[in-house]
Amino acid sequence: MSASFVQLFYLVATALFVFSLHWMNDPKTARRGVIAGATAMGLGMAATWAQPFVNNHGWMILAVLAGVGVGWPLSRVPLTAVPQRTALSHAFGGLAAGLVGTAKYYSWLQHDLAFPDEPAELVPFRMVAIIAEVILGFLTFTGSLLAAGKLQEVKWIPQRPVTYPLQNVINIGLLVVAVGIGVWLVFEPSSAIAPMIFPVVIVLALLFGVLLIIPIGGADMPTVIAILNAYAGLAAVAMGFVLDNKLLITAGALDGSSGLILSIIMCRAMNRSFMNVLFGAFGSVAPPKAEGEQGEYKPDTVESAAQIMEQADLVVIVPGYGLAVAQAQHKVRELYDQLIKRGITVKFAIHPVAGRMPGHMNVLLAEADIPYTDLAEMDDINGEMPQCDVALVVGANDVVNPAARSDESSPIYGMPIIDADKARTVFAIKRSKNPGFAGIDNALYFGDQTWMLFGDAKNVIGELVKELSGESGMH
Ligand code: NDP
Repeated sequence: MSASFVQLFYLVATALFVFSLHWMNDPKTARRGVIAGATAMGLGMAATWAQPFVNNHGWMILAVLAGVGVGWPLSRVPLTAVPQRTALSHAFGGLAAGLVGTAKYYSWLQHDLAFPDEPAELVPFRMVAIIAEVILGFLTFTGSLLAAGKLQEVKWIPQRPVTYPLQNVINIGLLVVAVGIGVWLVFEPSSAIAPMIFPVVIVLALLFGVLLIIPIGGADMPTVIAILNAYAGLAAVAMGFVLDNKLLITAGALDGSSGLILSIIMCRAMNRSFMNVLFGAFGSVAPPKAEGEQGEYKPDTVESAAQIMEQADLVVIVPGYGLAVAQAQHKVRELYDQLIKRGITVKFAIHPVAGRMPGHMNVLLAEADIPYTDLAEMDDINGEMPQCDVALVVGANDVVNPAARSDESSPIYGMPIIDADKARTVFAIKRSKNPGFAGIDNALYFGDQTWMLFGDAKNVIGELVKELSGESGMH
């Protein structure tokens, strides 16, 4: 394929990437966005492969097979595991960038040493790009692996933040050393010790990725994943400069900037500053208090919950991660239908970080065809909570924890929450007395107006629906 055709394909792919991001803004067009993104990636790969200098087809086929081998199972994971799946994708992106940078450095070094009279390949501009690619790529690799492990709750990876004295000084010091060695390599890329020094940059970047993530607590993980997304994008930009590939530069820039914008949006949603997320060891939590120290749980029955709901004018359903685990969205739809049938106003209070990925609740509720107009953003619904007769908390915990408003010592202090505690009556559905993702107690459950409906969300809501529809025979 001629060079101008390749550039044309790259241009079309870039446009598709831009459209893809735009379409992903709305659940109605999100599917189209995914197809556009995948098509763009396919076009980019095909155009690259069709270039005359790409003649090692065996290796290309092997790479495609390896990609499919890893990508296919990753595409089958349940919705609840999407955040860790996303972190793994960033890890692979980072690793690819790091390996390409390393391969390019050593192959160009070989050329420069073998042909000292020819113009050097390792010119400062390329070396800057290689060092940036290698540092960003490898730190994204280990950082994302660790983030995925924490989200998956892998046993040997501590979920809680690991902190030690002078942590930030050590972390920043390590990065400064890696960048310092990198700067030296930019000016002395083919000196006698350079090939031995280059791996030191790799090791420091790998180590930095680990140290960057271990002090970060569970509740901040969504923001961190978005930041790692931005790093992976920047590594791809650097790779584009190394390989002189415009598509990589534009796609990486889109990836990097969208990751950055997402992390800023999430920081706002959680009332955190960037610096706080990265260097604040947010999430360093005290173990949950024993029951009784906080208050007593008051269990209730679905029968009495159904009776109280029937009397309500406004019911606000607050969905959380437990709704996703239980796959209770269709049962929730049935409950919604039952309540609407009685002339009760039903609204869904959507917290921006409820669940385990941005937009998680919107996706689940859309799956059950719950009208979009009855989904209310946190800021809008909070004004209505004092008039709300019943708040039904379905598998939500951290996003309704009043400690975020009132307890300055709480690791989630400052995070905006859904004010479920301001409702006249609260019913909270969860299976046990275990804490939520941030690992802390929730005073909402001990409030005077709160009643616990212990059990799996799908079962409990199923029972509620039976009560309301009179199917239980006890109505
Ligand atoms: P939480 O993780 O705080 O709480 C979920 C609750 O659901 C738990 O208390 C659990 O209690 C209950 N639960 C689990 N399974 C079931 C089930 N089958 N039936 C009924 N209840 C169930 O969830 P929230 O949505 O309130 O908050 C999200 C948290 O996740 C925040 O801390 C956020 O920062 C973090 N996070 C968010 C991401 C995002 O992008 N949205 C990504 C990663 C993390 P029990 O075990 O007793 O049933």
